[in-house]
Amino acid sequence: MNVVIIGAGIMGTTFATLAKEMAPELNITILERLSSAGAGNSSAFWNAGTGHEANCELNYTPVDEEVIAVDKALKIHAQFNVAKQFWAYLVKKGVVESPETFINQTKHCTIVSESAIEELKLRFNEMSAHHFFEQMRYSEDFDEIKSWIPYTMEDRPRHEKMAATVIETGTDVNFGALTEQMAAHAVNDLGVKIEYNTHVKRVHKSPTGSWLIEAETDGSPVQHKADVLFVGAGGGAFPILKRSHLPFRSRFTGFPVGGRFLQAQISEEQAKDYKAKTYGKAKVGAPPMSVPHLDLRVVNGKHYLLFGPFASFKPILERGRGFFDYVRSLRLHDIPGLMSVALEHYPLVKYLVSESFKGKKSMLEELDSFAPGLSKKFDWEPIEAGQRVQIIKDGDLQMGTEIVVSSDKTYGTLLGASPGASVSPEVMLRALEQLLPSVFAKDEALQKKNEIFPEDDLDILINHPDRYREIRDEVNKQLGINESKA
Ligand SMILES: Cc1cc2nc3c(=O)[nH]c(=O)nc-3n(C[C@H](O)[C@H](O)[C@H](O)COP(=O)(O)OP(=O)(O)OC[C@H]3O[C@@H](n4cnc5c(N)ncnc54)[C@H](O)[C@@H]3O)c2cc1C
Repeated sequence: MNVVIIGAGIMGTTFATLAKEMAPELNITILERLSSAGAGNSSAFWNAGTGHEANCELNYTPVDEEVIAVDKALKIHAQFNVAKQFWAYLVKKGVVESPETFINQTKHCTIVSESAIEELKLRFNEMSAHHFFEQMRYSEDFDEIKSWIPYTMEDRPRHEKMAATVIETGTDVNFGALTEQMAAHAVNDLGVKIEYNTHVKRVHKSPTGSWLIEAETDGSPVQHKADVLFVGAGGGAFPILKRSHLPFRSRFTGFPVGGRFLQAQISEEQAKDYKAKTYGKAKVGAPPMSVPHLDLRVVNGKHYLLFGPFASFKPILERGRGFFDYVRSLRLHDIPGLMSVALEHYPLVKYLVSESFKGKKSMLEELDSFAPGLSKKFDWEPIEAGQRVQIIKDGDLQMGTEIVVSSDKTYGTLLGASPGASVSPEVMLRALEQLLPSVFAKDEALQKKNEIFPEDDLDILINHPDRYREIRDEVNKQLGINESKA
């Protein structure tokens, strides 16, 4: 069976690797617009590199009239635990040189000021009672918080009332480095082909039932054929779907949100003073993905602080592609949906537009209100982040991701942006189950799946503490994550 994947980001590369590990008989080709794998949103500084497992992100636990919802947090934590099983398998197999090349332990903290202390306390009480977050600690003590996350407290007046939580076993992940190493394994050991500099323009079904893929390699037209097509092309998935003639194409439109970070390179010594990712509370009207956070990043052995993201209104599909590419991906029937989203979410649109005009000075002021005095301690520069394209489905704006599969199971695509890379192995396993069910009918494939994922059932991880702890401790050992190290 010929399987073609569009996009060699973390999603497409994970899909290819999992498929080929379980079903070596598949012929898999990845078509990638850029000249290397993991060079789009998955690359190190196009995202924040947080291993999202709901340890510190308030937007995963919304509070409504003093009732906190933790379902989303539990699901993301369980998905991340499944992701770590796959990465631990890659480490065990020697696919990646060493875990530190892509995953590094950092504390995951949340910090809030007086007005949100009750919310944080509620979150802590609810979450620490669950085995996923049993290691979470809470403090309102200035010195204790300072010992966890010095850069956010050092120059803060002592009378300012703050509260924080910490989990020592959080992670910073270089998804770009992981994707590159996975792609090398897929090509060299598993026989996956990757055609770089190949931009897919259009896909359509031939009368014989296979997919014809029209692309340009280095500007020259080329055609590929597939029995099954998976589109993991980030924002680039929207125009491909729109031109596909699939009946559900008109239900989806892309809503692009750009982003920037402040970045400062620091020394290894300075990094020892702040081995953390600290999340705060989003401003009123701000989208969930713009919760401010100050992160230690470890990229190619160098250390950086990253602050942001600063969301922006940027009508493009992906960084490096033009405005007209986005416009060409729209159809007349998309306009009413876009207009109604703009009206219904007017505060969000206003917020994005105003953020787009924010200069370095205002960005540094925001940093100082999060971590007083930090703007002067290091040499900060604004950097461009990746581009998120959120889903508008049937006229409603959605912040998550969705796998969409055609009724004949020959076309599958991942739309949307968050929580994304962190949960990619679990999401790609589900995409495989939907798109290539025949793979899972074979004993050898199931054995391989169990070797890669000793426990991929989210309900079991959520409801069986002993099973969860057994899996967590084993994968953490492989990935160099442990409670006493932080
Ligand atoms: C500002 C920001 C911060 C983020 N922070 C985090 C975080 O902290 N933690 C986290 O887990 N996630 C985070 N994310 C999300 C994460 O980056 C994405 O979920 C993830 O990278 C998506 O992987 P992908 O493979 O779908 O996309 P990409 O890595 O963008 O890969 C898609 C690939 O498809 C290719 N492509 C597109 N169109 C075509 C075409 N027509 N033909 C051929 N190739 C094509 C592109 O060149 C690209 O290489 C963040 C994202 C942003 C933007």
